[in-house]
Formats: sequence, structure tokens, C-alpha cells
Amino acid sequence: MKNLVKLYIAILFLAAYRPAEVVFEDTLCIENISTIDPEAGLIENQTVIIKSGKIYKVFSSNEIRLAKNNKIIDGTGKYLIPGLWDAHVHFAYIEDLAPSMFALFLSYGITSVRDTGGEIEFVKSLKEKAMNNPTDAPRVMIAGPLLDGISNVYDGSDNNHPPLSVRLASLEEVAKYVNKLDSIGVDFLKAYEMLSLEQFIMIAQMAKEKGLKVTGHIPLSMDVISASNAGLSSMEHMRNLELSCASNADELLKQRREILTTGEGDPGSLLRLLIYQDQREVAIQNYDKNKANEILQVLAKNQTWQIPTLVLSTASSEKYFTYPEWQESFKYLPDSIGQQWKKNTDAMKDGKVTPFRQQYSRWLFDMVKKIHQADIDIMAGTDCPIFYMTPGYSLHQELIMLVEAGLSPLDALKTATLNPAKYFNLENELGSIQENKWADLVILDANPLEDIRNTQRINAVIKQGKYYDRKKIDQLLAHLSEK
Ligand SMILES: [Zn+2]
Repeated sequence: MKNLVKLYIAILFLAAYRPAEVVFEDTLCIENISTIDPEAGLIENQTVIIKSGKIYKVFSSNEIRLAKNNKIIDGTGKYLIPGLWDAHVHFAYIEDLAPSMFALFLSYGITSVRDTGGEIEFVKSLKEKAMNNPTDAPRVMIAGPLLDGISNVYDGSDNNHPPLSVRLASLEEVAKYVNKLDSIGVDFLKAYEMLSLEQFIMIAQMAKEKGLKVTGHIPLSMDVISASNAGLSSMEHMRNLELSCASNADELLKQRREILTTGEGDPGSLLRLLIYQDQREVAIQNYDKNKANEILQVLAKNQTWQIPTLVLSTASSEKYFTYPEWQESFKYLPDSIGQQWKKNTDAMKDGKVTPFRQQYSRWLFDMVKKIHQADIDIMAGTDCPIFYMTPGYSLHQELIMLVEAGLSPLDALKTATLNPAKYFNLENELGSIQENKWADLVILDANPLEDIRNTQRINAVIKQGKYYDRKKIDQLLAHLSEK
């Protein structure tokens, strides 16, 4: 009897404290989901209310009781992550593929991209299209063309070198072109490999004055420390880092400058290839750990971020694109492109990988680990659609590889969410699941912190508040494969 009274009192007590039912007008409510904060990690039992494209409220699910007439998504057993970024893409690399890229990115949970080089009018028109359709396209940040020197690499001379770059022959041309890009409204600048030392320094200085970040490949006329000290904000693919980490780095630099002077005016792609063939293997064989540590300290001090694009840089040894699940993604590309990619990648299946290629890949993985340990910020990027990188799909492989290199799954997620938001000073608007940020979100069927491969188990994608359930995503993809 006594126990019954106690139970009765307990029920009364609970009823009194049970929150009242709430109606949120014009919202989408995701109830009882585990959210993942790129810094704090997993938070269980959350209710996330989305309104007017933004995250309106985030509650602990116990604190709130949603009335049945709300629009409710049951998040039980599911995981909510911020929308992903691919921080290295080229819309202009295959112009015929560009029209499919928005849908591909969204289908794979990529809600923002950073275009790292393409003809300015082309990428600007895509950025505008994305801005005018914010719920049907990823956010697009653009650099305009690669800023390159006299022997520009991407000069349009062949299919592998479409005209992604601009040839700048003098300091005057650099000044004029950077001013032009700034007035057009690019989000950052990209410096390329054939720039002279003086040209690079001028770009870095002008960018600083204009409040723009400069990313790039280390120009072959320079070493990493001087480029970082001059104001390089970030490095793509760790390109040419190995040349500066060699015990004979000074000698290699001298030789490079000689080759660049003698070969000035030669096709940039050829000149660059000659230098790689001459120096990359030598540099790796002469890798100097102390030198590398010294460089990493400078990169950390200057906050020169890294976009390793491991998925691209190790592609010729790892050959992920020959895996059936990777080739499966080719069916979403325009027919002629998909068939060509299938044929080309099949042909590469049995090709021998040179011992040096394998060694270089291991070096890249090791270097990513060191970069992470040195507290240098990383962003996930792929270089899609270069080298059979299916837009969207390939970003998930990059996340896997970042974990293989030594990042925790949470740190890997941060490279594709909060870090790129910070890079563009958008951390108050994007990059985590917090009130007032844009509702760019992905619902997963399994926990990505347990296995990073689970970022591919996409249940739904939300772009600026618009909800794409699995059925809608499959329709988008089906539509692409029908073309
Ligand atoms: Zn690129």
C-alpha cells in the first residue's frame, strides 16, 4: 500500500513536470536524433527545429514535447551532421559535366564547395546560379582562374589541360588581373606553379590589402617557407612540399630556377613535368625529417592551412576508381563521360605501379599525419572531376583516407564542415549544428564516429532548409543517369 502511494505521488510529480506540447509554425522538426558537433562530438537525444532555411532551435528532446501537428521527422537511431564541403573542385574542368555537378554534390551530402580554378565568367555564372537557387544547389565559393606565369600550365593546349589558368607575363599584368578579379567579387585567389618569385609576392601582398585569402601550389621558383612567410593562406595537394623537405633543397631550388629560366616560354605542362621527373624522386630519397619539422612549424605559426586531396594525389597508386562501387557512380555522369571514365579506369586496373609511386603515396599519408599533429588546419578536398573523381562521391573517399592517415573520424568530419566555414569567416553561419546557422545538414543511418564510411549512409540531405529524403535523392540521381 505504502509503495502504491509512493508510485502515485511519483506519477503526479512527473505529470506536473512533463513539458507542455508545443507547436512551431512553418517549421521542420527533427526529433530525437544524435547530433554531431565537429568539436564536441556526439550529443544524444536532440530535437532540431528548422525555420526559414535556418536552424531555429536546438533542444534536448526531454525538454520539449512536440505537438502532433508539427511537421516531424523521427530521428531515432539516426545521426545529424553539418552539410559537407568539398574544398577543392573545378566546375570548368569538364564543361559538359558542370550542369550535373550541383545535383551530384547535393545527393552525396555536399552542401558547399570551393572552386579552386576556372575561367572567371564560367565559374561566376555557376556561383550566381547557386545563389539564385540556394535550396537546389551547393554554396559555391570561387577563385576565378589559376594565376600562373609566362609558361602557364592549364593553357587549353589539350584535353588534360583545359584553359583553367591565366598567363601573367609581368608584374603589371598581375596587378591588373588581381584588381579585375577583386572587382568581379571572387572569394579568394589561387596562385599557381609557374609564377616567378616576384609575381607570387605581389599576389600575396595585393590579396592581403584586399582581405582575400591566397591558396595555391608552391611556385616552382620558391620554397615552402618563403611562400608561407609571404602570405600563402593554404596549400593544395601539399604540392611541392617534398622539394623543400629534402636535405639538398637549396640545390634543387637553384636547379629549378635554371630550368625555369632556360625553358621560359615552353609549354608550362611540359616544363613542370620535366621538373617533377627531375626532382620529385630525388627529393623523397633525400627526405630530411628535421627540415620537414622546421617547415611544419612555420606553416603552423603562419596558419598556412592544408588541403591534402589524398584521394587525388595517391590515385595512381591506390586506384580507387577501379573499385566497382566507385565505377558505379559513373552512371550518374553524362553518358559519354561515364562510358569514357569506365573504359579508361578499366584499362588502368592491371597497370603496374612503380615502387616510387607507392613510396610517394606513403610519404603523402605520413605527411598528413605530421601536419595534423603539428596543429595545422586541414580541409577535405578532392579536385573533382579531375582524374575520375566523381563529384560528391569522391569526398567520402577523402574522409576515409584522412582517417587512414591518422585523423580521428571527428577530426576528419571537421575538415569538411567547421574548418572550411572558418576559412571563409563563415563560422557564425555554417559548419556546425547551432541556432541561427544555415540549415545545411545531412541525416545518416549510422554513426560516422564509429566508422567514417558511415558518411555514405545518407538518409536525407537538407539544403538551406529544403528537405531531400532518400526517395527524393534517388530521384535526383535517377534523373542524372537517364540523361
Ligand atoms: Zn585543382
